[in-house]
Amino acid sequence: MGFDIGVSIDHLIFAELDAEKERRWDLTQANAEEFLQRYRQGNYSFTPMGVAQGWDPASYQRVARALVQMGYTHIAIGGLVRSQNTEIVRVLTAVQEVLRPGMQVHLFGVSRPDQVPTFMRLGITSFDSASRLRRAWMDGRRNYFLGDAAYSAIRIPEARALARKQHLDEHATIRMEQAAFATLRAFDRNEASLEATWEAAVAYAALSGKDTDRLKQDYRETLEVRPWQQCRCAICTEIGVEVIIFRGNNRNRRRGFHNTWQLYQHLQRIERHNGPPPEVVTQLTLEGEQVLDMEK
Ligand SMILES: [Zn+2]
Repeated sequence: MGFDIGVSIDHLIFAELDAEKERRWDLTQANAEEFLQRYRQGNYSFTPMGVAQGWDPASYQRVARALVQMGYTHIAIGGLVRSQNTEIVRVLTAVQEVLRPGMQVHLFGVSRPDQVPTFMRLGITSFDSASRLRRAWMDGRRNYFLGDAAYSAIRIPEARALARKQHLDEHATIRMEQAAFATLRAFDRNEASLEATWEAAVAYAALSGKDTDRLKQDYRETLEVRPWQQCRCAICTEIGVEVIIFRGNNRNRRRGFHNTWQLYQHLQRIERHNGPPPEVVTQLTLEGEQVLDMEK
């Protein structure tokens, strides 16, 4: 299927699973060993990546050392999504001691742009996260990211479904839905006032009982800033104000792609400000390229 990297099967070690932690740690390591054996037997074009799971810096270091000895040149560190920065730094410091020069180290699921320079200094060459994508529709308030700010999307749920759910008159609900759409689009063209647009959006939100003071304030902020007019990404350039409307799956995903693009811009700004850390340039030469690789 054209994948460039394949990852061994790992087992998360949660704090709640203390009695199981050794078994899960052993299983993750045995999987990595078998994965590499099978990889060598097959004629695969992807790069194998071994996963390290653990519960403290020492357990992560032990498995990382084992992965290096097995022959992995790419390793991934999992299980740190919920960890504090100081704990992540302790783990990465311990792991770095057993790495060989030129190794690629992926950090699973940790999206903390401000920590990127620190993680890079500790040998991390890539990370992934669905957080920005998912917040486009999972976050109750902050759905649209622009630079360092985040804004609330304007919710215009489908009228017929809303009328059924809330036991409302269908025709009246559709009229309010269309008014919310029409004023927002007119506002984008400077043909409707902020006040009228805000009122139509809040009135529609009231049908679901969601017209809280906080939502009203969030909507006002979104309309005042018009963030969708400031973004240069392909989504915002093509669909304009539609990106800020919280509605169906496709529309919400498009806002997620915009958010991911914004995260990438954020990472590039960090790289421009910090540059590649000098100690990493000599130790791991692919740092800069790896960050750029995320554009793919
Ligand atoms: Zn955009």
